[in-house]
Amino acid sequence: MLPSKRLLAVATLVTVAGTAQAADEVVVYSSRIDELIKPVFDAYTAKTGVPVKFITDKEAPLIARLKAEGANTPADMLITVDAGNLWQAEREGVLKPIKSAVIETNIPPQYRSSTGSWTGLSLRARTIFYSTERVEPSELSTYEALADANWEGRLCLRTSKKVYNQSLTATLIETHGAEKTEQILQGWVNNLATDVFADDIAVLQAIDAGQCDVGITNTYYYGRLHKAQPDLQVKPFWPNQNDRGVHVNLAGAGITKNAPHPEAALKLLEWMTGDEAQALFAGINQEYPANPKIQPSAEVQSWGTFKADAIPVEVAGKRQAEAIMLMDRAGWN
Ligand code: FE
Repeated sequence: MLPSKRLLAVATLVTVAGTAQAADEVVVYSSRIDELIKPVFDAYTAKTGVPVKFITDKEAPLIARLKAEGANTPADMLITVDAGNLWQAEREGVLKPIKSAVIETNIPPQYRSSTGSWTGLSLRARTIFYSTERVEPSELSTYEALADANWEGRLCLRTSKKVYNQSLTATLIETHGAEKTEQILQGWVNNLATDVFADDIAVLQAIDAGQCDVGITNTYYYGRLHKAQPDLQVKPFWPNQNDRGVHVNLAGAGITKNAPHPEAALKLLEWMTGDEAQALFAGINQEYPANPKIQPSAEVQSWGTFKADAIPVEVAGKRQAEAIMLMDRAGWN
């Protein structure tokens, strides 16, 4: 009698566990591509048995899709890059504010939404890069100083249509006000060596090729290019170390307003802010872990340390419209 009873108990447990697992899947909409998120989800599934399903697309269609699906959305979580985009998602009402002691412990407040609607997961500095052949680091100081006349015809920038530049400009407005920011932007535009570029990698390649001497890009693009091209004659410079610090933005996530599995999604999000996921998430793309207890990759560490701007990154969203207007007025294409 006893052995078969035990067998029945085991069978019942398996069934219950199987049911719980199906109910606990998490569905993610992500503007980050497959190769940047799948290893993290695979590690979570291996650890917990909870399946994570995801689709990837650009942030605008994903937010539009969440709005259109409303209460019928299958999505529990939205992952995207730049506080400007996360702030937009929050404003469009597709995210659910959450309160989590785990996330509050793991992620510094300037890298989270003040309403709890999203949290940063990995960080990237948008900093100055210079030609090691034509620029001495001692010639560099601040973002603002790139507007000075000695950089005339030497600066490369990416298009103002990219949210990364809009967010950087938003922090300039927060620091200096609109009038001074417009002057700085005009100085940058006057100093351009050539038309603006469609992406950050092209800016770095232009510096390497001698088309310009300095530029502003995100650090992970340098990480990628430097890995493929170790002899790159370009290095990062950390500006504004005597005042507010380097502009740091993030990739992050929030739980959707109509998440079918909100508890399971929160558990995944909390896990993503912890040790194992942070090292994975940041390391895959040469980013900085948003959890300051975790070390970045060896490549990222080789760039040295810097003081980061402590302005809450949600300013990027709040001042986005103003930033776009000023960039336009300054003639930044
Ligand atoms: Fe990017």
